Amino acid sequence: MIPLSAFLSVMALGRSTDTGTAHKAAATALLNSNNTGAARLACPASIFPEPAANPPGDGPARGAEARGSGRPGGNAGRGATPPRENWYAEGGQVFDNLYMLTTKVNSAWAVKTSAGIILIDTLFGYAAQDEIVDGMKKLGLDPADIKYIVISHAHGDHDGAVKFLQDTYHPHVILAPKDWELAARQANPYSHDMDAKDGQKLTLGDTTITIYITPGHTGGTLSFLVPVKDHGVSHLAMEWGGTALSKNTSKEMLQSYILNAGRLLDIADGAGADVIIGNHTEYNDALARLEQTKARKPGDLNPWVVGRPEVRKYLTVVQECAKSWLAIGEGRP
Ligand SMILES: [Zn+2]
Repeated sequence: MIPLSAFLSVMALGRSTDTGTAHKAAATALLNSNNTGAARLACPASIFPEPAANPPGDGPARGAEARGSGRPGGNAGRGATPPRENWYAEGGQVFDNLYMLTTKVNSAWAVKTSAGIILIDTLFGYAAQDEIVDGMKKLGLDPADIKYIVISHAHGDHDGAVKFLQDTYHPHVILAPKDWELAARQANPYSHDMDAKDGQKLTLGDTTITIYITPGHTGGTLSFLVPVKDHGVSHLAMEWGGTALSKNTSKEMLQSYILNAGRLLDIADGAGADVIIGNHTEYNDALARLEQTKARKPGDLNPWVVGRPEVRKYLTVVQECAKSWLAIGEGRP
């Protein structure tokens, strides 16, 4: 028999660890340059709904995605162009076969294969010419070689250039069914093409990326495992395709986010993922990391190769953030 006192203390422990405060603390304990920005967007800024003032550390970057994406599901098309100096950033090659096409805020990824290019995300429409078309050419890639565009989720900062690229280069476009529904509600929607399947292997030439349907940020968010090579040495990159949460995220979506972050953690770890890529530069200091990559000297490590424990940590951080929101929503701040 377990003494009642021990039983009660276990109960109390269970209760005290499943609170918004405890889960945010669990995330915070794991933060470093590989994941701090992700937590900023995924975790509640404050556990209690109405802080008296901006708490320390709650910088202006919080909510960047919400501001950047315009209205939810919105598609800031090629017409809405902010001044170039506000968003333009220089992309670069980060692995033998992986190129970062990036604004200051959002990143798209060109995966070069023996039979063309898989493009993951497309940035806002206004950046299509400078960052995707010209950006690829500067890196020695031909945008006409894009055979597939895979969209992490149908928010304008990731799918804003799909229509232009679809009309210009005629690649296949892959979204999860739920996010095709979201995309169809945009003002000038792109054409429905291929439905992603969970666990789908997308092979182009010598390269196979794996696509997972990981709802939470949107109903059909996609996450990816992408095989990459660094001077011929194989690594595996993980992208968690939708990160930001808010007090408006439904309980159902939070539960899905928690489930899928855990599921991807097991899959990515089992597959040996040791590289983190993202679709917002903020998540893992991607712009600084890109600069480090460009300054790399022979023999220097690739700054994108962070190791399996860091990939696990990243997904644990966003999962703990979601658990924090869920506990708050259920009245356990
Ligand atoms: Zn989004």
